[in-house]
Amino acid sequence: MAIFSILGIPTRSGINYKILIYGITGDCPAIKLAIKHVNHQGYWCCWFCYIRGVHIHHKRQYYFKKELALRSAAEYALYSHEAEETKTNIYGHLGVSPLSVIIDVPLPRCLVIDYMHVSLLRHTRTVIQYIYGNFLKPKQREELDELFRNQPFPHFFNRKMRPVKEFSYCKATELRNMLLYGLLPLIRLFLPIECAAHLALYVTAMRLFHGPRTIGNDTETVANELMAMYYKHHTLFYENIQNFVLHLHSNFMDQYRLHGSLSNLGTFGQESLIGHFANNRNGTRNLGQLIINNYNVDFTIVNQLHHHLSDVPVKSNGLFDSHDALINNFLLKTHNDLCFCDNANQCIRIYCRHRIDAMIYHSLIYHRRGSSKIYFVQYSKDNDKNLFGAIELFFTCNKKNYALIHNHSSKHLFTDYFLSSKYHSILLKPLNMYFYVLNLTSTCRDVITVDNISNMCIVFTFCDSLVVTPLSCSYEHD
Ligand SMILES: [Zn+2]
Ligand SMILES: [Zn+2]
Repeated sequence: MAIFSILGIPTRSGINYKILIYGITGDCPAIKLAIKHVNHQGYWCCWFCYIRGVHIHHKRQYYFKKELALRSAAEYALYSHEAEETKTNIYGHLGVSPLSVIIDVPLPRCLVIDYMHVSLLRHTRTVIQYIYGNFLKPKQREELDELFRNQPFPHFFNRKMRPVKEFSYCKATELRNMLLYGLLPLIRLFLPIECAAHLALYVTAMRLFHGPRTIGNDTETVANELMAMYYKHHTLFYENIQNFVLHLHSNFMDQYRLHGSLSNLGTFGQESLIGHFANNRNGTRNLGQLIINNYNVDFTIVNQLHHHLSDVPVKSNGLFDSHDALINNFLLKTHNDLCFCDNANQCIRIYCRHRIDAMIYHSLIYHRRGSSKIYFVQYSKDNDKNLFGAIELFFTCNKKNYALIHNHSSKHLFTDYFLSSKYHSILLKPLNMYFYVLNLTSTCRDVITVDNISNMCIVFTFCDSLVVTPLSCSYEHD
């Protein structure tokens, strides 16, 4: 690798590819080995700052600190060399990382925190189990588990959520669905308001860090304020789980600035690739060679496809799956508003589904939709971007594509559940971008052109209302 990074990779065509190695990611034990640092039970175990853990109840705890003394690249290099020469522990450094000669961004800037391990598999899981074990009565645990088990998700979610009692089999994807979508609306019912509002700080911060710059340049600053408040007050609600992984969340603002949103940084893809080889290897111990070989095969197959593009049916955006439903009075009236012709039955064509950029929206007249509920969308009309409803059907009229939507109007703000909480004001703006409380029944219908549909939603149905939350980003490996 060191040779490649100096010489580059020459090819037969004469181009010499230069390799730039941007960063290192992985779970905490892997990173500390790769960079020769003390493990997370040690006193100076943070790679980014000089926080000193506190030893309590046989565990190392990391309490909130307002100002972090960060390790600079120069100090990092100096202390790790000193540790290498003296063979001692210098502020957590045990030596010079063997990777430091090949990475093009200096340590510790090149370290990318893997939110899949740190936030999902560790912190989210710990907190959910803590609440389940300490705050809920046995009957409530059963109720909550049933809610997690039965909550519908769009059909393209390969995994949904998992009941807490089955957490030993829980996958990172399931924890992600819980953290970003299902946890807050469902667990809120069982928690004291202040505790639920405190948890909402974490969920909102993670939604901001996970997605695109929803509130422009302030995105990571707002997320960090929420995270800091959550961390600062963590001991008010949880005992003895202020672990190193919680401390690492203090660095998410810098990580977002340097490397982008968390949805681009998770190691879901790499883990499943390596997991696939670990499960399917046939006797060989040379996993590296096997991975390279399969990469080459994959590369060849993908490249060959390009030669035959004309043979592959192109799936274009638009309406499909036509339906021969009768044109009802509402559509007739709609037609007269949209079109001048006098033959609505010829003019209007009804469709069940709509494809846009590989995302397929269903409608209520699509009968094979099962329980996936991907007909519930966020859409805009007349400058209002936060409208929600269920798509009854799609139709074309006068060469334009329309959706007929049963609008569910807003009942109240999601943060109204936390009106009495001291966190209400800090949650007010960001949390209401992600969760909406709607009336249970629809009272009006909207006709919009399909380009006004902005996102798919996950819907939580309660006895007197719906809570909906738009998807965080259109694609992340699961
Ligand atoms: Zn730190
Ligand atoms: Zn017409």
